[in-house]
Amino acid sequence: MKKLQHLTAAAAVASLLSLSGVASASHTWNNYHWARTSSPFTLQVVDSVTSNWQANMTESLTKWAQSGIINFNIAAVAEGSTTRKRCPMVSGEMRVCNASYGQNGWLGLASINLDSNGHISQGTAKMNDSYSAYWTPEEKNHVMCQEIGHVFGLGHTSEDGSSQNTCMDYSTSSTSQWPNNHDYQQLQTQYAHLDSYNSYLVAAAFGPSSDACADGAKSCDGKGQKLGTKVHKAKGYETWVHVEKDGSLTVHHVYLVPGSEH
Ligand SMILES: [Zn+2]
Ligand SMILES: [Zn+2]
Repeated sequence: MKKLQHLTAAAAVASLLSLSGVASASHTWNNYHWARTSSPFTLQVVDSVTSNWQANMTESLTKWAQSGIINFNIAAVAEGSTTRKRCPMVSGEMRVCNASYGQNGWLGLASINLDSNGHISQGTAKMNDSYSAYWTPEEKNHVMCQEIGHVFGLGHTSEDGSSQNTCMDYSTSSTSQWPNNHDYQQLQTQYAHLDSYNSYLVAAAFGPSSDACADGAKSCDGKGQKLGTKVHKAKGYETWVHVEKDGSLTVHHVYLVPGSEH
């Protein structure tokens, strides 16, 4: 019975994801969003990046806050290498991590966990230091900004390498390091309504974290997260869905290393 529910939920998400693709005018990621009863809202951030990434993260958050939709509060700093490698989700918060996750094909990985209403309830953005040769200062900003954008529920503006002057494209242009007004408008559309509850943690706290990988270390990606089933594959990225033990869904958005698509 339980298993059947899980399968049904996963199938529903899989069909949603395969239908969505990329729309040019709108670049929502399935309209995923955090539930909130007021706007703007303040997302608690767990800072699990080393000094090498600190400025990239802080500047990204500052730029995203210019949308007028989401403000940020660094709720906790947890920089130990074990924590950064596992990068466990924290209920109601966004965690940003960097670590050497290995030569596993991805540069950046955004993961969101959905509550029973389909709202984002926790998320992580991870940067893979194992591809040190790839990380120009511009690309560090680009991928950091994009993975954080995914954790708000945004998709890509393009995937063909063309630049829309936003970090949500797949261009290596120096004009693609930050969000642009179109991204802000997309967020304003996606977050125009209010919800009847908050899926984010209103007050900062270093809450209990989920361990998404406890039930099958073999299929875990990197050190901490189970990717589950691949439901979408494109030139530069993949989307995976994993049903957690509690029945909730975690959706992963994987930024592949150029030329290493598998
Ligand atoms: Zn909503
Ligand atoms: Zn992406």
